Amino acid sequence: MFQRFYQANPEPKGELEYVNPFTLVVAVALSAQATDVGVNKATRKLFEVADTPEKMLALGEDGLIQHIKTIGLYRNKAKNVIALSKRLIEVYGGKVPETREELETLPGVGRKTANVVLNIAFGHPTIAVDTHLFRVGNRTGLAPGANPLKVELELERVVPERWKHHAHHWLILHGRYVCKARRPDCPSCLIRDICLYDDKTVA
Ligand code: SF4
Repeated sequence: MFQRFYQANPEPKGELEYVNPFTLVVAVALSAQATDVGVNKATRKLFEVADTPEKMLALGEDGLIQHIKTIGLYRNKAKNVIALSKRLIEVYGGKVPETREELETLPGVGRKTANVVLNIAFGHPTIAVDTHLFRVGNRTGLAPGANPLKVELELERVVPERWKHHAHHWLILHGRYVCKARRPDCPSCLIRDICLYDDKTVA
């Protein structure tokens, strides 16, 4: 499976825009239940004025809301971004920490966000399980599991080391554009002969 993903797209990239680890944390925190395209539209201008925890605090919650009010749940997200900026300054000297345990102490940052940040900002071989990976892991039979953590641990176990760094991106892109939630595009899927899904669609 990963050999084929690799051949089709050797250097897969995430679609969220960011300029440093801090802005990646913010972008991922803002992306819950929102599209990457919608988040990018808002953050392009936001990151021009607030690309560090210090500048984000200076902007303040109301100033931040002006930038992100097109994004769902923006009030709660604004609170979290201000609170996590404060904690980054107070506890981590304004730097984004590089362990999952520390990242998870930041307001609004859960295991999935921590895994995304570790993978993209720091190059760790973590696999963040979002709705797309959860679906693809189960449908294909690659990493079945009743909840995201089970799927993540199964992916950790079955994905060969050499593919781990990009596994998150390959699977997310596959889920977003091919193995879609409502109607997977099985006829044009490059892993259909090794996928175990029983209800494959036909052309
Ligand atoms: S064959 Fe269909 S169900 Fe299986 S991975 Fe491809 S798109 Fe998804």
